[in-house]
Amino acid sequence: MKNEENTPIQPVSGKIVPRYAGPATFARLPELRDVKKCDIAILGIPFDSGTSYRPGARFGPQAIRQASRHLRTQYHPAYDTEPFAELQVADAGDIACNPFNIEEAVGQVQTAATDLLGKVGSIISLGGDHTIALPLLRAVNHFHGSVALVHFDAHLDTWDTYFGAPYTHGTPFRRAAEEKLFLDHASIHVGIRGPLYSRDDLTNDEELGFKVVHCDEFQNEGVEHVIKRIKDRVGNNPMYLSIDIDVLDPAHAPGTGTPEIAGMSSRELLGVLRGLAGLNIISADVVEVAPAYDHAELTSLAAATTVFELINLLAHYRKNNT
Ligand code: MN
Ligand code: MN
Repeated sequence: MKNEENTPIQPVSGKIVPRYAGPATFARLPELRDVKKCDIAILGIPFDSGTSYRPGARFGPQAIRQASRHLRTQYHPAYDTEPFAELQVADAGDIACNPFNIEEAVGQVQTAATDLLGKVGSIISLGGDHTIALPLLRAVNHFHGSVALVHFDAHLDTWDTYFGAPYTHGTPFRRAAEEKLFLDHASIHVGIRGPLYSRDDLTNDEELGFKVVHCDEFQNEGVEHVIKRIKDRVGNNPMYLSIDIDVLDPAHAPGTGTPEIAGMSSRELLGVLRGLAGLNIISADVVEVAPAYDHAELTSLAAATTVFELINLLAHYRKNNT
């Protein structure tokens, strides 16, 4: 792997080195320190001290990297992209977060992500629990201002506090609203379902500036309808995607902290993401993979594949807008 002129350093072909061998980076990509410039950095954030039920997402980044060995990465027919030939993508390793002090960890993520975004075009973060979306949004705002937030999740994550704690995996988008980190006319939750703590949860959430695509809309109206709702909402604004893997049904992603039944299929998630091609995606995260509850790499493979779809969304947008 040598960086000849301006051509990206790519993973070695799976036809030369079998995919189960080679580097332990995401999709066997080069490490960030081995490339001269970087368009997309894959960033691990092994932090799960903000979880309210099952812990374990601190092991998510490495499980997603391991599952990403499955990917055939040369060409993606759904986007007509050769992402690793068109863009330099690299693995930026993990942020070291304090597991005993949530506020300090939030600060560490914000500092590291801001520093990284100063050097690379986009970040796709591997969680970690959903607490990390707040400092990631702060970092993105530092460079892009407020963004259209498209949040895939079974849960709203706009609760105020848990046990008095303001920074948890159930509260990042309440804090983000208070800090005006997302555009209140262009943001939307997708895949919400299940019972709530109170009737007020939905009205409070709407007052923060979110619309909701309820998970039943996939069943009743279909993927194309959901794509149109998201596109109409986001428009031409810079878009940040935050994907909680529990948006998928536990049959598709059992390895997560707070599973909710009657969720999206992995086919529906990929269908929606492919439908978002053309929107101005800035950066993204995929969070809440907790491998201890996983089986047969179902969840980590879903997450790794989702990350690769996001890379292709970015490649598609760059190709058609530069
Ligand atoms: Mn969730
Ligand atoms: Mn969440």
